[in-house]
Amino acid sequence: MTRRARLDIAVVGGGVVGCAAALALARLGLQVTLLEPREPPRWQAVTRDLRVYAFAPDNAALLASLGVWDAVRAGRLQPYRRMRVWDAAGGGELAFDADRLGVRELGWIVEHGLLVDRLWAALPGAGVQVRCPASVVALEQHDDGARLRLEDGTTLDARLVLGADGAASSMRTLAGIDLDARDYGQRGVVGFVASELPHDDTAWQRFMPGGPLALLPFADGDSSIVWTLPDADAARVLALDDEAFGRTLTSASGGRLGALRATSARAAFPLRRQLAATHVEGRVLLLGDAAHVVHPLAGQGVNLGLRDVSALADTVRAAQSRQADYASPQRLARWARARRSENAIAAHAFGAINRVFSNDDFAATVLRGPLLGLAGRLPPLARALWRHAAGA
Ligand SMILES: Cc1cc2nc3c(=O)[nH]c(=O)nc-3n(C[C@H](O)[C@H](O)[C@H](O)COP(=O)(O)OP(=O)(O)OC[C@H]3O[C@@H](n4cnc5c(N)ncnc54)[C@H](O)[C@@H]3O)c2cc1C
Repeated sequence: MTRRARLDIAVVGGGVVGCAAALALARLGLQVTLLEPREPPRWQAVTRDLRVYAFAPDNAALLASLGVWDAVRAGRLQPYRRMRVWDAAGGGELAFDADRLGVRELGWIVEHGLLVDRLWAALPGAGVQVRCPASVVALEQHDDGARLRLEDGTTLDARLVLGADGAASSMRTLAGIDLDARDYGQRGVVGFVASELPHDDTAWQRFMPGGPLALLPFADGDSSIVWTLPDADAARVLALDDEAFGRTLTSASGGRLGALRATSARAAFPLRRQLAATHVEGRVLLLGDAAHVVHPLAGQGVNLGLRDVSALADTVRAAQSRQADYASPQRLARWARARRSENAIAAHAFGAINRVFSNDDFAATVLRGPLLGLAGRLPPLARALWRHAAGA
């Protein structure tokens, strides 16, 4: 059976980035269909999602413009007003304070499941047609559009296809886009912990030879951890009972928040750097993790993906205001070049920081504490670093 639909945009993948892209383009008057194999589970306040993001102010503004931020706020949000970064080997500390930077908060800690839930709920109201479950099995490109063949035998014709189907993107493969991938040999161990001392609305990050440990403040007073560890150490830490885990974590945190106690299950994500050779091939655009996967130490993964969305919406809006073709190859190429450049710089910079800070090489150990201290003592540099992370 074959069914044809003519539309402007087919978005493949209904994660945070795919949903935001579908909403942003539908609000610009384009006809959008979103394809996703699995309907996300409804977010429930009684269950905490182990996957949390440090969410940047520019992306909060994007969600506000899509009419979703208030619904996210009504769920569960924790602003963070301070950030402290230091090295286990000693030296100075890099400090960011909202007060000193003249803002109310540096950003928010928000659950992945809450963001997806609220974005997904907004799709029908914005006129986005959702096809779920739906998976793409084949792609045909033409000069003025692309045809997707779905697993159920139907086809879909669209002027543009947005591949937002995550790190293992099938759209990237179907479009024949090469991938530069590097396995860090590390995992990010995540979970929730209670601390003896209050988290003080502060995001804490301590660098150690195995990788950084981040303690992110959570709305119920606990902290969410993202602990980067070499693969074997991550497996060992996951296997510890709660008491031993708490002791190991307390020691890894340098006791900054006093004794830490596990209050949830734990999980581990493999950490990789991935960069697609291009963000556009013909009529297929890649966004979010389909185009770039970065080390989580700077908390920028989903933030970069949402900046792909904002830049694309700006491109379409600018073309519409001139009554020009938003999907012209030149426009798409300009968007792709600008996004790939920013994403490549971020991916390589976070990889380099991970290399310098996650080892016990003598020279690196001697240098990194003073480097952090120096950055912390130079307010213009700290301000510039924060403005960049905040998308300001
Ligand atoms: C340990 C860890 C901590 C992190 N912390 C942060 C942080 O603090 N801040 C931050 O910004 N980022 C963080 N990240 C990164 C963040 O998780 C990702 O960048 C983000 O989830 C990418 O969103 P996405 O929508 O591009 O992809 P995904 O979230 O992977 O969504 C992809 C969607 O596509 C769907 N899909 C898959 N295959 C298909 C297909 N064939 N057809 C259709 N749909 C398909 C999937 O079901 C899914 O819904 C962290 C990552 C890790 C591993």
